[in-house]
Amino acid sequence: TVLDDECDYLFKTVLIGDSAVGKSNLLSRFAKDEFHIDSKPTIGVEFAYRNVKIGDKVAKAQIWDTAGQERFRAITSSYYRGALGAILVYDITRRGTFENLKKWLHELREYGNRDMVIVLVGNKSDLVDSREVDVEDGQSLAQQENLCFMETSAKENLNVEDAFLQMITKVFKIA
Ligand code: GDP
Repeated sequence: TVLDDECDYLFKTVLIGDSAVGKSNLLSRFAKDEFHIDSKPTIGVEFAYRNVKIGDKVAKAQIWDTAGQERFRAITSSYYRGALGAILVYDITRRGTFENLKKWLHELREYGNRDMVIVLVGNKSDLVDSREVDVEDGQSLAQQENLCFMETSAKENLNVEDAFLQMITKVFKIA
């Protein structure tokens, strides 16, 4: 935890999960309340900040986005280094993105902080007609792996704030 003049705590958190599950849109929703139809073309780590008031303290969360590196299996250990929290995202309309969660959890636990706070997010909950992963599947994996869980829609701005705030508040409590 590092101090700067606008906030009491500063910490790093990461977004992780398969390509096109909605990571960058979740982040822009949370950081700027925007939704973008096009996927970003850029490669390289991107991050955003948001200050969160917790009690009488202000926590500044630095949230890293892979910016597409996962497509090339190019996420390096430095991406995870020092991160205290993670949002692990899958797409409820693509079963494969759910099946790959084990791989992501393995990576998070291999490279991440030992007691990293992980929130599991099933995104695109607005696309009910194309659902391939039941809510119960997300819940039972979360229970099995001891994670917080919720479904979100970056498009409809459902639960996005909740997911990030849950992670940030938990990190704050252990930091
Ligand atoms: P990333 O590769 O994980 O960062 O995914 P993006 O944020 O670039 O999103 C991939 C695609 O999914 C884009 O076409 C987005 O518009 C779309 N998308 C992201 N979140 C949602 C959502 O909650 N609902 C719907 N319907 N589409 C979404």
